Amino acid sequence: MTISKKIDEIEERKNVFSDKKRLENGKTYIPRFLIRESNIDEIIGVLKGIKPAMQDNCFDRDLEKLKKSLDELEDIYGVNYLISSHKYLINSPNDFCEVVDIDDERDGLVSFSLSFESSLNKKSEEFFLKKSKTWERNKEFSRKFGEVMGYPECCLDFGYSLSGNVGDAESKKESRTWSKAHIRSFRNSDTVSEALNIYTIKPLVSHVPCSLDCKGSIKYAKQMFKLLKEEDNLYADLRRYFLRLNSLYWFYSEFFLFDGDKNRNELFYKDFHKVSFSENVFYGGMEKEFLEKLERTEELLNKGNRLVMKRDCFKIFEGDKELGKVEKDHPFENILF
Ligand SMILES: [Zn+2]
Repeated sequence: MTISKKIDEIEERKNVFSDKKRLENGKTYIPRFLIRESNIDEIIGVLKGIKPAMQDNCFDRDLEKLKKSLDELEDIYGVNYLISSHKYLINSPNDFCEVVDIDDERDGLVSFSLSFESSLNKKSEEFFLKKSKTWERNKEFSRKFGEVMGYPECCLDFGYSLSGNVGDAESKKESRTWSKAHIRSFRNSDTVSEALNIYTIKPLVSHVPCSLDCKGSIKYAKQMFKLLKEEDNLYADLRRYFLRLNSLYWFYSEFFLFDGDKNRNELFYKDFHKVSFSENVFYGGMEKEFLEKLERTEELLNKGNRLVMKRDCFKIFEGDKELGKVEKDHPFENILF
């Protein structure tokens, strides 16, 4: 219960940013629509100058609300914005996403960028469009996009070094660009910084760090946390709670969070929470076998209180009693963070 209660609390608390009176005290006001549909950190990051630009998406049916909210930010802060003249179709059969004209009748996402420099908004939209259009040149444009967002150079190199989603069906399955990146970044790490816990909800960085001890990323994460603390202490405390949770991790969109104590490859948990939103994002759905594995894991976790990670499987126990095990296809199919 604890984790889901905290999720409700943080969802409620973030509305504090919608109070316009905050402006009188030098604090950030964010329109309610953007609080709900976008990323508070990214907006604050741009407004407070720790990030050159931000980019996000929202459903095209909300286009008018988006415009109104961005106009409000423009009026108050003098910040510029740009909304894409294209629409990105969700769960397209083309695996990544299909780009269509904004007038297309199908439901899709519009992309928008926010920056004090309008040239960065143009670049952000151009590179986002180009990286979304073709897998072949995705790497090149992902890197350019990341530069505009101000990600550390070492992390841009790291992103570029990943194999990307190219080749036959088997190599595509093998590479699942984003998801693998999270696991590789774990494997690249000598030590792990709590500030860079990307295996939780609402991490402090929006890129995948080259390692979990990456200096540039830690610096950014700490700046971000400091800003949040200045903005609202209670909200920052809730964020810290999520940074301290452990997770059993497959993909950025599929993992279990735990409230408990972890010692190397063993975790005692009092509570757990399933995070799964792959059906709502536009990177294509998950395979049936994988979804079955998640369901089976959830059933076992419900009965147990201890999880042990092995090379080729993980086991779930209730005290000393083994309840069952879940096989892994690869040693790094998932991680216990
Ligand atoms: Zn880095």
